[in-house]
Order: sequence, then C-alpha cells, then structure tokens
Amino acid sequence: MNISHIEHIGIAVDNLEESILYFEQVLGLKCYTIEEVVDQKVRTAFFLVGTTKIELLESTSSDGPIGKFITKKGQGIHHIAFAVDNTTEALKKAEERGVKLIDKVARKGAENLNIGFLHPKSTHGVLTELCSKQK
Ligand code: ZN
Repeated sequence: MNISHIEHIGIAVDNLEESILYFEQVLGLKCYTIEEVVDQKVRTAFFLVGTTKIELLESTSSDGPIGKFITKKGQGIHHIAFAVDNTTEALKKAEERGVKLIDKVARKGAENLNIGFLHPKSTHGVLTELCSKQK
C-alpha cells in the first residue's frame, strides 16, 4: 500500500467560519484554501501543520455524509487520510486483504486528489481515506 504520511485529518464542524476563527486565532494556523466539493455536499477549509493538513468539513445539506455524521455524533474527528502512491491500487490491495470498501475505485476529492474510503467496520471504527496525486 506504501503509505508515506498522514495527508490530512478530517474534522466535521457545524460552521466553517467559526471553526476557521478558532484554528487561526487560538491555534495560530493559517487557512490557505476554502473549497466546495459539490458531490460530497461539503465546504472544506484547509490548514497545513508540518506535512499534515487539517481539513474542516461543513455540510451544505443535512442529507450529505457530513450532515448525517453531525446529526448522529456532533462535531468532531471524522476521518484520517493516508497518502499513498496510487489510490485505486491501494483500494484493491485493501480489498484483497478482506477490508470492506466504500469506494471501489478512486474519485476526485478536494485539492484535486484521487481519493477512496475504507469502511469503518473494517478499520476498527476509524473512517479511513486513501489519497494520491496520480491515479
Ligand atoms: Zn479527507
């Protein structure tokens, strides 16, 4: 699978602007981009912490994945994303090793990365994203 580092940690938030204020004014980090991912029904804000990013996720619709997560669990850590060489290959390898997948093949995520999710039922409760720059 060849994981090189933790690419980002995804955090579900109620209100993107309020959360950005906390990350900037209290933690002293700088939001470098805000991006809407329409098919995921989210608005995202990114911060760089060393080589790892923090991805804040605000739902744009209560029936989207983040909207449902917040209704069920409230704000908090939503997923961890590992950087791999090739997301589709890494998904295939995980499946061969008995992991249940949410995505069979990579799709486009925020920051134009190729992303795919492993099912938390197979990952000890942690929603796990794999991402890569190339297919
Ligand atoms: Zn993510």
